[in-house]
Amino acid sequence: METSDIIPSRPFDDLSAEDWLARVADRNLIDGDLTPGPATLDVMEPAQMRRLAGTPASGEDEVAAAVGAARAALPHWATTNARQRGRLLAKAAREITACSEAIARLLARETGKALATECRGELAVAADLLEFYGGLAPELKGETVPFDPSVFATTTREPLGVVAAIVPWNVPLVLTMLKIAPALVAGNTVVVKASEEAPFATLACAVILNRFLPAGVVNVIVGEGPSCGTALTAHPDVAKITFTGSEAAGRKVYGEGAKRIVPVSLELGGKSPMIVCGDAELDRAVAGAIAGMRFTRQGQSCTAASRIYVHASLYDAFVSDLCGRLETLRIGDPLDEATDVGTIINTRQKATIERYVKLAEASPGARILRLGTLPEPGPVAPDLFMQPTLILDLPADNPAACEEIFGPVCVISKWDDYEEVLAAANASPYGLAATVWTDSLSTALDATRRLNAGYVQVNQNLTIQPNLSYGGFGVSGLGKEATLEAMLENFTRKKTIVFAM
Ligand code: NAD
Repeated sequence: METSDIIPSRPFDDLSAEDWLARVADRNLIDGDLTPGPATLDVMEPAQMRRLAGTPASGEDEVAAAVGAARAALPHWATTNARQRGRLLAKAAREITACSEAIARLLARETGKALATECRGELAVAADLLEFYGGLAPELKGETVPFDPSVFATTTREPLGVVAAIVPWNVPLVLTMLKIAPALVAGNTVVVKASEEAPFATLACAVILNRFLPAGVVNVIVGEGPSCGTALTAHPDVAKITFTGSEAAGRKVYGEGAKRIVPVSLELGGKSPMIVCGDAELDRAVAGAIAGMRFTRQGQSCTAASRIYVHASLYDAFVSDLCGRLETLRIGDPLDEATDVGTIINTRQKATIERYVKLAEASPGARILRLGTLPEPGPVAPDLFMQPTLILDLPADNPAACEEIFGPVCVISKWDDYEEVLAAANASPYGLAATVWTDSLSTALDATRRLNAGYVQVNQNLTIQPNLSYGGFGVSGLGKEATLEAMLENFTRKKTIVFAM
């Protein structure tokens, strides 16, 4: 493979979004080099409905090169002092922060997410995750085990080897860092399979990491799931697969892991319930619904609170207040500072979302409320913008009410029986997140104990936090992300060592 551009050792903070794009377009990042791929896939700028740039359609050869580089870098990285590994990640975090405005603009262009409400925050969380895990390096500890006095028994934590990290397009930087920061601190080397829909901000951050880490420790390849993703999960030198994406692809990835008996963690979809009780504070619950549904991310979130159950006594006020606030969200150019809501990622995803809305419309008595104003053609192409949409009076078995839509569409139902609403909330194969809104401590305690979800919150709707364990039950996934526990469980293996004295 031809090597195009050795990564320089000077800071990048003078680069604009366009400079970054020129650097990472049509490139993989393998063994410290930005290397052209074999053929080009088009990455669109959804708010303009035009090609932003090309990205490689990597296949087996690129996977082999990236895994080979990661494997070659492993012995040195795995034996580097853990605190030193952590310090290098913290340095990269500081430089990502220094470059964050340009990379956030690039992220806004490739994903269609608004710069002001989404992309700047995503850069901040990505840097925070590197810093957080950098500081956890000294916690890679083993144990001493009480045993017979003639024996000294201990455990150690070892890196697994080459980690394959496969990520989607909706929050690509945060989801990448959630995987690679703990993997790297634990002494593994990584190959990231970036999303072919939005690879550039991820490549830019990886270029920054490569300024501080030895070549081959972090590699990023781009390509389509069935070809590039499958080649990566099937590669015999990959020791661990960590995947975030759809349930369908997750099942295939799990199958590949099973063939070679390598550990697999999966963060998949969701249809998360939000239960608003009659004694909830209305204002707070409505604000929580907007935050929880991730309306400023066009609802393209696995944890989106897309099933809202409101007690009959609050229902009318809740719906009316929510409609009023959604009307004020400004939908438009992702790069405009005044924009709250950008675009759906692509035409296929928008068609999927609209298909669910049509299925709801076909249900007798269902009401569909589309809120806010779509932008006029001109500064943007209007095709992929979509209004926040509420669906009322929909039976629970309608596909829009029970399947993941991954768009700005939320189903709101009225309830008056606590046992029934808990049963409805739990009647889903997913179990990613849930919230309950109440003034009563005993209701909150009871509901949090009984809700079948991995991340349950009361009177708030926080996103992923580095020090709160995150991961789904049921078909929402396997294993946890964030926290020290995730680093130890996902990215190390425990060895027992017993000495006879
Ligand atoms: P997707 O499954 O189509 O793709 C995700 C990634 O997997 C991409 O990089 C893709 O190229 C790759 N891929 C696809 N098929 C593959 C295969 N057979 N083998 C290996 N890799 C493969 O998902 P998407 O459309 O990019 O993202 C949306 C989905 O991601 C939604 O279902 C959403 O719920 C889920 N998601 C989950 C979380 C979470 O933390 N639980 C977070 C964000 C998104």
